[in-house]
Amino acid sequence: NTLPSGDIGLIGLAVMGQNLILNAADHGFTVVAYNRTVAKVDEFLANEAKGKSIIGARSIEELVANLKRPRRIILLVKAGKPVDAFIEQLLPHLEKGDIIIDGGNSHFPDSNRRYEELNDKGILFVGSGVSGGEEGARNGPSLMPGGHKDAWPHIKDIFQSIAAKSDGEPCCDWVGDAGSGHYVKMVHNGIEYGDMQLICEAYDLLKRVGKFTDKEIGDVFTQWNKGVLDSFLIEITRDILYFNDPTDGTPLLEKILDSAGQKGTGKWTAINALDLGMPVTLIGEAVFSRCLSALKDERVRASTVLEGPTVSGESPITDRKQFVDDLEQALYASKIISYAQGFMLINEAAKEYGWKLNNPAIALMWRGGCIIRSVFLGEITAAYKENPDLENLLFHPFFKNAITKAQSGWRSSIAKAVQYGVPVPAFTTALSFYDGYRSAMLPANLLQAQRDYFGAHTFKVLPGKENDFLKGDWIH
Ligand code: NAP
Repeated sequence: NTLPSGDIGLIGLAVMGQNLILNAADHGFTVVAYNRTVAKVDEFLANEAKGKSIIGARSIEELVANLKRPRRIILLVKAGKPVDAFIEQLLPHLEKGDIIIDGGNSHFPDSNRRYEELNDKGILFVGSGVSGGEEGARNGPSLMPGGHKDAWPHIKDIFQSIAAKSDGEPCCDWVGDAGSGHYVKMVHNGIEYGDMQLICEAYDLLKRVGKFTDKEIGDVFTQWNKGVLDSFLIEITRDILYFNDPTDGTPLLEKILDSAGQKGTGKWTAINALDLGMPVTLIGEAVFSRCLSALKDERVRASTVLEGPTVSGESPITDRKQFVDDLEQALYASKIISYAQGFMLINEAAKEYGWKLNNPAIALMWRGGCIIRSVFLGEITAAYKENPDLENLLFHPFFKNAITKAQSGWRSSIAKAVQYGVPVPAFTTALSFYDGYRSAMLPANLLQAQRDYFGAHTFKVLPGKENDFLKGDWIH
């Protein structure tokens, strides 16, 4: 009757699950592996898992029986029904205080529900964002766990050991209550949509207005990756731009159909922003840009019918260096706006859903391991560490000054895009947000008057401008 030796159980032996198991085993943990299709367990044990501290389980009973208490079980299966199905299967075999962690891309309302349902049964639920794809899972992902706080001391060591490190600090900390881990992962994905769109707009301007070749654009990205934009996404964009199709030696990128797909996490972020009344405009535009791109056939027809400026011959840009520098500033300033908007949303969600969230930890979790990892996130971490209650990132001197400095290049890049007919929805929405946010007075006075005119919605009066007339029936 030997005691069970498994530190943690993992269900779901697809790409993410297998790599996370290997990562945990490398860090000295004994992992018990299970999968719905049991043949995958044997296959894994015979190959990748061979010689490592990995135990195969061929049933849920076997999985549970091999785990130390409290039992810690990670689900890395397709989000949605499979997660509920496994929770159902596990429940009869678990005891109070055992921990179920969902590491898939679950929608946060599902995690809120699972947290409540399991809490009623004495099981501690954790919904953890996992980012970084296959490579991250294997070598150090960004992990964003939230849920039942009592679970954290039992999983902290494993989670922080296997997570990516940034300047020696793990890119994993406790996010907060209930579904907040998956919420923060959702916003991360939304920000990822925004970052990618911004990069695409910079590429498009360099190509269509600057008439740069892919190789020259690659050189621009090489240079940008050494400065304030230093990040994973800039780095992979550089590699993509340099990549030539071996069959004919021309850039592969130019052969890829310009119709973007999406799995829905960006859309979830935009929908939630609308629900919470937060102007997260950049992520919204990034989602809509993918939608517009998907209308390929219609766009091709429209391109032969609708008129507007295009640069057909030589580039009108005379100072290429200035053009590139301005664009770097446009990208940087827009990115600052996007992250400021993302944190506005997170802070509003904390209020709305009654979560206590840890902003500096969130920025640090995104600092390494994940798709949006960047040097810039180090600055955000520092800003929130300095003042966890910062009302808005834009109020922090570092970002305030960065935007001030970037402003003329940002405006000039957008002006060129408008002049030459290149769409830059993310750059422009970022600038419009900035100009709106710094406007003490917006034209919403007229809007309120219109609403009152046709719908008797009433309006409030500016402080100090009250008089008897304004209290009355002014139009009718
Ligand atoms: P996946 O393709 O999303 O899911 C495959 C796993 O789910 C397999 O173990 C499969 O079991 C199981 N599964 C599917 N349908 C099931 C059902 N109806 N009942 C029970 N089990 C079912 O795998 P993945 O790409 O490794 O991703 C795992 C999770 O991590 C997902 O939620 C994904 O969104 C998230 N995620 C993925 C990435 C990534 O880069 N791939 C990054 C971050 C997060 P069988 O082998 O029996 O079919």
